Amino acid sequence: MRVAVVGVQGDVEEHVLMTKKALKKLGIGGEVVATRRAGIVSKSDAVIIPGGESTTISKLIFLDGIADEIIELAESGKPVMGTCAGLILLSKYGDEQVEKTGTKLLGLIDIWVKRNAFGRQRESFQVKLDVKHVGSFDAVFIRAPAIKKVGENVEVLATLQDYVVAAKQNNVLGLAFHPELTNDTRIHEYFLKLNEF
Ligand code: GLN
Repeated sequence: MRVAVVGVQGDVEEHVLMTKKALKKLGIGGEVVATRRAGIVSKSDAVIIPGGESTTISKLIFLDGIADEIIELAESGKPVMGTCAGLILLSKYGDEQVEKTGTKLLGLIDIWVKRNAFGRQRESFQVKLDVKHVGSFDAVFIRAPAIKKVGENVEVLATLQDYVVAAKQNNVLGLAFHPELTNDTRIHEYFLKLNEF
């Protein structure tokens, strides 16, 4: 199995390492490739969009065709995961910050997302979440977005306060937090099996 991690900006290396660990745990042979160029995602079996700055990642992936490759991969039923800024990019609708900055979204999950939803006082924090299909999970939030509303084909996997913080639409998984910043591979393992959804 070949897993691509979109490597234009953000916490790329952490996702590469976690995915390698998760593949090993599942006993699946394969490789994990960080990519900044078009041509790799289309030859992969799964793709991860990491956290970082959604405005920057959006510009870069739409500039050189990686965005279209991610959309095609998702439509062919292969696992796609976005974390934090990656969740914003997977969304269909963004808040005024997303609109003001002209951030283009991939629209792969029918959700309304709010950037920097947890405010300045709580820029980063860790909390135990109950994640459906996975169980209790130590979730790290860093200037995190949150989901304000979900469409009817979206499965809610975790909530925090009034927000949804993990959601899935078929083979596409979006998380407001950073599973790659713990030692727990269960979310990456769950993601790698999403083509069996
Ligand atoms: N605040 C960032 C954004 O809106 C996301 C933060 C993150 O990915 N850690 O793009």
